[in-house]
Amino acid sequence: MKNLLLLFSLIFFISCNESAENNKETQNPEAEKTVSNDSVPNFGIVIHGGAGTIRKENMSDSLEQAYKEKLEEAIRTGHEILANGGTALEAVQRTINVMENSPLFNSAKGAVFTNEGKNELDASIMDGETLNAGAVAGVTNVKNPINLAYEVMVNSDHVLLSGKGAEQFAKEQGLEIVDPSYFYTEKRYKAMERAREREKEENNKTAFYDPFIKDEKFGTVGCAALDKHGNIAAGTSTGGMSNKKYNRIGDSPIIGAGTYANNKTCAVSSTGWGEYFIRGVVAYDISAMMEYKGLSLQEAASEVIQKKLPALGGDGGIIAIDHDGNVAMEFNTAGMYRATMNKNGELKIGMYSK
Ligand code: ASP
Repeated sequence: MKNLLLLFSLIFFISCNESAENNKETQNPEAEKTVSNDSVPNFGIVIHGGAGTIRKENMSDSLEQAYKEKLEEAIRTGHEILANGGTALEAVQRTINVMENSPLFNSAKGAVFTNEGKNELDASIMDGETLNAGAVAGVTNVKNPINLAYEVMVNSDHVLLSGKGAEQFAKEQGLEIVDPSYFYTEKRYKAMERAREREKEENNKTAFYDPFIKDEKFGTVGCAALDKHGNIAAGTSTGGMSNKKYNRIGDSPIIGAGTYANNKTCAVSSTGWGEYFIRGVVAYDISAMMEYKGLSLQEAASEVIQKKLPALGGDGGIIAIDHDGNVAMEFNTAGMYRATMNKNGELKIGMYSK
């Protein structure tokens, strides 16, 4: 009898101990975090469709709706790729393709016009894992310039190709070539004509920097993503600035200015007044602030976009994601078309100031 009692007490003691251990595990948030992160690796995506004087009072309900729908279609395209285990590079490219194919944005189909009435397209892409990068400038007949930037990165010995040579390379890589008239949209053509007129009227040599002319350009597109493998990437595609001359090239195809990605820090795509983004090496500066100063992505982005860029005289914004999936959407203009989606499928879309 005494033995039986001893056995029962032993069993009772062991079972109490086990349930206390279990409770400890569920009450420890760190333990929970580790379990959930291990089961579903983090991923996320963020996009922009250009920064500038984007104000509710200048926007019709139907146009606002059209922008929202296209931003959502674009970000869902990339999100699905990431959710299925695809790479950040693929997500960036395909997401940008959706916006490149829409006349709403100053990129491929909806590109602005040069002073001579042409469309000259710039794009770049960067892989945060390898620091490999590809870019193109001044192409006139490649349907999706971001795809050409990708080909430059993976199938050439170079980083940046321009003009006729880039177009020849596009043909050799079997990319879709279109007649330059494909890029014609009445809205962008008229905008360029207005800018040209204003330049003549004012006899203003610095008209390119005129706020009125600047506002005719916005709509550059960009994307940054973190994939389930822990890699980040960024890309940017644009028609540049309306009424541009002399084969002007902006920041979008310049690695470090318009686009930058480094697994150690973050992936960034810029939009805005390109000359200042080049001079401020904006995308790289955000990464460098994280790497050398230990700032968070948000701290680095606001320092560069709200302080350093305006101090130079520039305006615009960036979207970025870091290796932990934190996102920044920072701009110093009235608005920026933007959207982000995390691994839980939570979607945020914005256009106007915060
Ligand atoms: N950054 C682009 C450029 O200067 C234009 C833009 O983002 O709106 O070419």
